Amino acid sequence: MSFTLAIVGRPNVGKSTLFNRLVGKRLALVDDTPGVTRDLREGAARLGDLRFTVIDTAGLEEATDDSLQGRMRRLTERAVDMADICLFMIDARTGVTPTDQTFAEILRKRSAHVILAANKAEGSAADAGVIEAYALGLGEPIRMSAEHNEGLNDLYTQLMPLADEFADRAESDAPETDVDVDLDEDEAETDAVPVPTRDKPLQVAVVGRPNAGKSTLINRILGEDRLLTGPEAGITRDAISLTTDWVGPDGDAVPMRIFDTAGMRRKAKVQEKLEKLSVSDGLRAVKFAEVVVVLLDAAIPFEQQDLRIADLAEREGRAVVVAVNKWDIEEDKQAKLRDLRESFERLLPQLRGAPLVTVSAKTGRGLDRLHGAIMRAHAVWNRRVPTAALNRWLSGMLEQHPPPAPQGKRIKLRYMTQAKTRPPGFVVMCSHPDKMPASYSRYLVNGLREDFDMPGTPIRLHLRSQN
Ligand code: GDP
Ligand code: GDP
Repeated sequence: MSFTLAIVGRPNVGKSTLFNRLVGKRLALVDDTPGVTRDLREGAARLGDLRFTVIDTAGLEEATDDSLQGRMRRLTERAVDMADICLFMIDARTGVTPTDQTFAEILRKRSAHVILAANKAEGSAADAGVIEAYALGLGEPIRMSAEHNEGLNDLYTQLMPLADEFADRAESDAPETDVDVDLDEDEAETDAVPVPTRDKPLQVAVVGRPNAGKSTLINRILGEDRLLTGPEAGITRDAISLTTDWVGPDGDAVPMRIFDTAGMRRKAKVQEKLEKLSVSDGLRAVKFAEVVVVLLDAAIPFEQQDLRIADLAEREGRAVVVAVNKWDIEEDKQAKLRDLRESFERLLPQLRGAPLVTVSAKTGRGLDRLHGAIMRAHAVWNRRVPTAALNRWLSGMLEQHPPPAPQGKRIKLRYMTQAKTRPPGFVVMCSHPDKMPASYSRYLVNGLREDFDMPGTPIRLHLRSQN
């Protein structure tokens, strides 16, 4: 018998990434209390010679029925109560947010042993965030990069003495909840997401410049899958789509309809009917899709054509996943990834926070990650934020940073609601919407993204006049 470690923190800081690292391929879905299964993941973890149980507060992204803050608090409290030790994770790149402070408060009150980790700390961009973390009053943060396997030695060093303590008093404890199962023989890096029940296939378009590897990728997805039901006629004569059950890292088969733009081009050649399809094929696929995978060639990423199609996908309001292909050829992967992230932020600011995953269509590496990213992007795209939570949030935002007062008359924002999903669209009733500066709308959109965890999806904000 050993101890239980809960990984807590706001969504997207990297908790699942660490969970998967600690659990390895023995991915477990354990807690069978009704209503709990979706929210808490539990697994048998291993770190050096330490063996323990780890709990991950996943599933927060699915907040639809309740305020995110409230759910986050309850879920965290439950995880904290179940655990002997809490690992509180923040995102060192973002720095400490008000939500992080709320977490710190819960933990200070509720948990006997807190370990603080500032994640995503690879590279110097995270230095400021790591320093900020000291201000949480939870001791020295571990500088961590769950994704790059950094900081786990420090975690081990902090866990060791506590592990001894729990080992001493564990003799009489209840038996270990060791019910994990081996789902997969694969060496896959897992990125588990709750799979929503759906009756329609998820519509995915794979777009990108010629030779990016679209056909190879699609063949790879289909090839790995025994349940191929296509090819079938697409929505229009000239679009080819394939419906397949793409089995994710957690073993769940997700029906997806994949639009094959490369195939559309080939077909055009054969039929010699459709002209200039190379430009319009991507465009058409984007219109049909829910999630657009922009496939880049690692050797020549972010070319004009890539940028144009990514921007189009954003303007059309699609969920976007950027996948960098031919990763097998890259030598200095770490440096390359840094470059890619930097270019992404600089060249596609409108897609802020959209997932960037590296894949090799040729070897199949990274496909699980791509699967996870598609599922997650789709979930965010469908997210609905309850009105009460939105308005509580709005008043906080107004207080923190009041709207401007052109010609001495302050613009009043009265009320807001989410008018649509896919992608999320919000309506704010306000006085003088025409006078509202774009910077204030951006402040609200960025706030929505951050506080309700909607990375990478286009967010629409409409101002409506109401005096
Ligand atoms: P969770 O919501 O807290 O479980 O976060 P995830 O584990 O799902 O991670 C959110 C995002 O952060 C994913 O895109 C990860 O790939 C990324 N991520 C996780 N750890 C690191 C890290 O150490 N460095 C960087 N740069 N990204 C990371
Ligand atoms: P498309 O025009 O986007 O459909 O690209 P293809 O799938 O036809 O691929 C173009 C070329 O890139 C082919 O020679 C593929 O073998 C190669 N290719 C595709 N994916 C990968 C990959 O992951 N790694 C490497 N090394 N080559 C790849």
